[in-house]
Amino acid sequence: MSRILVVEDEAAISELISLNLRHAGFEVELAASAEQAQLAVDGALPDLVLLDWMLPGQSGLALARQWRAAARTRDLPIIMLTARADEADKVGGLDAGADDYLTKPFGIGELLARIRSVLRRRAPQALDSVVEVDGLRLDPGTRRVSRGGTEVRVGPTEFRLLHFFLTHPERVHSRSQLLDRVWGDHVFIEERTVDVHVKRLREALAPVHCAGMIETVRGAGYRLAQAGALSK
Ligand code: CA
Repeated sequence: MSRILVVEDEAAISELISLNLRHAGFEVELAASAEQAQLAVDGALPDLVLLDWMLPGQSGLALARQWRAAARTRDLPIIMLTARADEADKVGGLDAGADDYLTKPFGIGELLARIRSVLRRRAPQALDSVVEVDGLRLDPGTRRVSRGGTEVRVGPTEFRLLHFFLTHPERVHSRSQLLDRVWGDHVFIEERTVDVHVKRLREALAPVHCAGMIETVRGAGYRLAQAGALSK
């Protein structure tokens, strides 16, 4: 399930948004200020942030800039919400690193469409689309993994880990990044936990000859390698 952080100081608006997002199947966390939003993100990275521009204290725009400048939050998908409609402000929001921009008042249908579009581009592991790499197929809807008709049995953590790898192939992920993106907790879980689950995942993939897809990158972390990429 995708987690969305809603940063909005007007209670009526944040309640309306969160009600509709929950109804659409998202898990929602609320923050009423930039400070609260930073605390929430420090705890666990959400899949996407709806960020109001005008907040008490630090503005949403400044917070977006701050997140884009930090390694851990550089890729956090952000949709800015604002009452300002003029062109210069939109440019400012996009310059600050927002992935999209929505001007209040907006319809819930449009909000959901924008969220799905940004997730598709920036966080495909947060959506329920089937992913397939080199014949290894993962279906989040049915929670099934298979290759060439052979079902692969994986535990829930290995499933999420494989989903993340398959939606971000060829990129090296550090243990800390994996804890953040797969476990949603980079503070209280030991990095060795990642190694344990990678080992289990490789064991599960061995019968369909895919164990080698999960590569260890010395001193850096793990990467899912595509056969096509290996031969290049
Ligand atoms: Ca506001």
